[in-house]
Amino acid sequence: MTLQEEYSATTEEKQRALAELRNIKADFSGRGWFPGTSGNLSIRVGAYAPTRFQFAVTSSGRDKSAQTPEDFLFVDESGRPCEATALKPSAETLIHCEIYRLTGCGAVFHVHTVFNNLISEWFAERGSVPVDAVELIKAFNIWDQDARIDVPIVPNYADIPSIVPEITAALDPRIPGVLLRNHGIYAWGANAFEAKRHLEAFEFLFEYAYRMELLKGSARRG
Ligand SMILES: [Zn+2]
Repeated sequence: MTLQEEYSATTEEKQRALAELRNIKADFSGRGWFPGTSGNLSIRVGAYAPTRFQFAVTSSGRDKSAQTPEDFLFVDESGRPCEATALKPSAETLIHCEIYRLTGCGAVFHVHTVFNNLISEWFAERGSVPVDAVELIKAFNIWDQDARIDVPIVPNYADIPSIVPEITAALDPRIPGVLLRNHGIYAWGANAFEAKRHLEAFEFLFEYAYRMELLKGSARRG
């Protein structure tokens, strides 16, 4: 068996990943989580080593409310297509590559929402969003009474490769997500089900944290 064959997934596994991606894309699109063709999704397939893996990822610039044969392609650990295709992977595929390399996770989802943008700007100087004692922290398998977490925020650059080392430095293995300032969130999990649970929990916590800051502000003003 060649190294290529050893790491590539079976046809069934690839079909399963594409079916899951289609469902998640339709679900998130229905929530308005892909404004203006933004956002991207990926699911890893086949064997994994930090230096060698493959994943299915959304192709660049597609309307994510439509389902077409051009929606996804398979790429390798450096974000290069690993099957014959005219499709281009999402511009931010290198960020998915780095998250898979660092965590070995099974799925990575990225969305731009008003609340994840607002909260990343609000706490940008601090470098993380603090969340205190909210029940939904348990979605991250953190069960301590009155748990407190900090969700990392990294700077956003137009040049995607410049963002990668920021992710490397900021990623906290306990927290399955990173915010890009005034851009959006990357959330991940062992599989698509877990990544979706994490993303939903983050979005809830960001809205909560933002509204809490407003409440504190109006309390101070009396
Ligand atoms: Zn983005």
